[in-house]
Amino acid sequence: MRGILFVVSGPSGAGKGTVCRALTERLPSIHLSVSATTRPARSGEIDQVHYYFISRTDFQERIARLEMLEWADVYGDYYGTPREPVDRILDQGRDVILEIDVQGALQVRGRMPEAVLLFLSPPSFAELERRLRNRGTDTEEKIEKRLNWAHRELNSFPSYDYVVINDRVEAAVEKILAVMVAERCRTKRFQLMDLNPNS
Ligand code: 5GP
Repeated sequence: MRGILFVVSGPSGAGKGTVCRALTERLPSIHLSVSATTRPARSGEIDQVHYYFISRTDFQERIARLEMLEWADVYGDYYGTPREPVDRILDQGRDVILEIDVQGALQVRGRMPEAVLLFLSPPSFAELERRLRNRGTDTEEKIEKRLNWAHRELNSFPSYDYVVINDRVEAAVEKILAVMVAERCRTKRFQLMDLNPNS
C-alpha cells in the first residue's frame, strides 16, 4: 500500500510546529517533510534539517522546473515542499507529514486529492493573539499582519478533512493519531484483489 500524505496546516500561532514535533516523537517511522525557504535561518536552525535555506533565484528556478509540490509566499518569503522526497517515501509505503500554511494546503488538495488535510485551530482568536505575542520574536507590525492573515485563514477550515482544536498539545496529538489510524482503515486504500482468496 502506498503511504498516506497528511497535511497539518492552520494559521500561524495554532501550534503546528510543536504538534508536529510531538507527533514524530510518537511515530518515529513517519517522515516529516523538510521544506525549502528563502527566509534566513534563525539561531539554532540547521540547513537541510529544519529547512533547505535557498536563494530567491534558486527557489524560482525550482518552481519553473515543477519541483515543488506546493509553494507560497508567507509574509514576504517563499516556502515550499520539494516534491521528489515526498513521492519517493510514499512509494516506499511510509506516511509523510507536511507542516505548511493554508495557501499551500489548498494547493495540495488540488494536486494530490488523496492527501488527508488537517486544520489545526487555536481554541479561540484571543488565545491565538496571546500565543503570537508571547513568542517575543516579532515586532508589533508583524503581529498585526499575522493576526489579519489568521482571521482569513480561519475561514478556510471547510476545505479540510478534519479540524483539530489545539487547546493542549498532548490532546491534539492524540486526535491526530486517531485520524491516522482511521485513514489507514479507509476502504478506498485497499485493492479488492488483496481480499480475494484465489489471488
Ligand atoms: P516559520 O518561518 O515560522 O518557520 O514558518 C512560517 C510559516 O510558513 C508557518 O505557517 C509554516 O507552517 C509555513 N511553512 C513552512 N514550510 C512551508 C512550506 O513548505 N509550504 C508552505 N506553504 N508553508 C510553509
